[in-house]
Amino acid sequence: MSKRDREQVIRRIIDMEDRISNCQRCGTVIRCIRKPSLGKGDLEPELLMVLESDNQYSRDINRMIELRNLIKTGLGFEKIYHTYLVRCQPKACPLYNSINCYTHRKLLDKEYRCVLSQKACEGIPIHPNNESIIACLSFLMEEISILNPKYLVLFGERVAEYVLRAYGFFEKPDLNHCYRFNGLTVIPSVDEGSFSLLECQQIKRNL
Ligand code: SF4
Repeated sequence: MSKRDREQVIRRIIDMEDRISNCQRCGTVIRCIRKPSLGKGDLEPELLMVLESDNQYSRDINRMIELRNLIKTGLGFEKIYHTYLVRCQPKACPLYNSINCYTHRKLLDKEYRCVLSQKACEGIPIHPNNESIIACLSFLMEEISILNPKYLVLFGERVAEYVLRAYGFFEKPDLNHCYRFNGLTVIPSVDEGSFSLLECQQIKRNL
């Protein structure tokens, strides 16, 4: 990629990330996060990994390094980027549900303490609902179009289902098989916590 093209990619990613950071489409979900999660990695990726959300797995840096290393050794890709289907991780919170909370402001302070309880946030990460997925999907599709990878690995059946539908594949995803779309190879697989060398071997046979 030329220097000019790279600068343009960076500009477009920054512009998209600004819009994500100011996005309020999901209402109450965003009150219990400090900021939406953004993609990370090589800006000229051969392979882009998509996780459902920035959950307990992806927040563990060692697990993410292991996952990247698995893709490197098992599939042979060096330039990797990872991102999320939904940027604002929803949480289940008994406190929030038990009070009438009409505020529109963030309920987490800069130290990640809950402003209601004055203690560390005790919310439990849960799967995003379908409305959040649909609201956030356009950011993912934009990110894929900017970074233009050759391969896309989708972790988990929900991610696979929504992204494959966006590319016009409406049947139930066939895990570890390849779907081709305009030069892009889309690979649905198991979720990130279950992904192993076995999945890599199955994918490799289909590449
Ligand atoms: S999850 Fe996505 S669509 Fe919803 S508020 Fe966050 S950035 Fe916006």
